[in-house]
Amino acid sequence: MAIVESMTPKERVLNALALKPVDRTPIANPTNVATVELMDMVDSPFPAANRDPELNARLAATGYTELGFDSIMPYFSIIQESSALGCEMQWEEKDNWPTVRMTNPIWNGPDDVHIPPGFLEHQDNVAITRSIQMLKAEFGDEVALIGKTMGPWTLAYHVFGVERFLLMSIDDPDETLRTLHKLKEISVLFGEAQIDAGADVLTFPDHATGDLVSGAYYDKFLLEIHQEMVERLPVPLILHICGKTTDRMDGIARSNMAAFHFDSKNDPQESMDIVDGRIALVGNINNPVTLYSKGPEEVREEVFRAMDAGVDMIAPECAIPLATKLENLLEIPKSVKDWHAMHSVN
Ligand SMILES: [Zn+2]
Repeated sequence: MAIVESMTPKERVLNALALKPVDRTPIANPTNVATVELMDMVDSPFPAANRDPELNARLAATGYTELGFDSIMPYFSIIQESSALGCEMQWEEKDNWPTVRMTNPIWNGPDDVHIPPGFLEHQDNVAITRSIQMLKAEFGDEVALIGKTMGPWTLAYHVFGVERFLLMSIDDPDETLRTLHKLKEISVLFGEAQIDAGADVLTFPDHATGDLVSGAYYDKFLLEIHQEMVERLPVPLILHICGKTTDRMDGIARSNMAAFHFDSKNDPQESMDIVDGRIALVGNINNPVTLYSKGPEEVREEVFRAMDAGVDMIAPECAIPLATKLENLLEIPKSVKDWHAMHSVN
């Protein structure tokens, strides 16, 4: 039996983020679902699609038009504002993510942190804000447009280098906090620019990840800043942290963010139990194994596991590998709809 859909994708996503009823569980892409196959389909390859608003919008739209997800995400990577800050970039080719070259960090400590003139007008920030405007004009009434602004922890990796910043966090917690409070102004500025352009929601990646820092770090360094971000950025925020995070999920549930985008290293039921209705959960279909190397049947199993646990929005756990097969991505919305058909009461 087919389910009856009574909401637009946008209503569905916004309701799920507000923990309100939905006609069916939405499928979202808080990080990225662009692939090489989709780039070829609309002739918008990396790296140009990261830097040119028109190519960007065309590739981003495929998440809705081709994959049938309920949201559109035009910020594919995590490096746009770091490029605008002056970090040395490696733009790579079509089949690889652009990255910040960590060998030559631009800043040494908190006193160097500043917002360069023309920051919002930099090509790599305009690529996102202008793309959001175009997507808003075309899809704004029906689809949820999700922007993305990097949190201070992620920005710190890019401007200081990962190792140096992690050492600072051990050696000098006060200096680390001072740094994060200065960097958060960059998160706010770029977030506000995307809201002004028409973003309905913002993903807030802040990579205090399970494999790099302990759970206690979250409460110590980030909880208050994240609460402040909720006050200052007037759209629902989706926090994104990769890796095993159950040891910090209680803190995350107190961040006041609308949702947490969580990794497949965390069991969906255990995670739902920890957050206990205090924050929506989005995820957590495995990328490197399930979506990248398995087939639709395994994808379906994993979607069902998340649905059985009551996960509020279904999504790949993080930015998907660019060579992910289309048929595996198409299986996600298909499985969600089938799950509802199997569980409908009439
Ligand atoms: Zn991630």
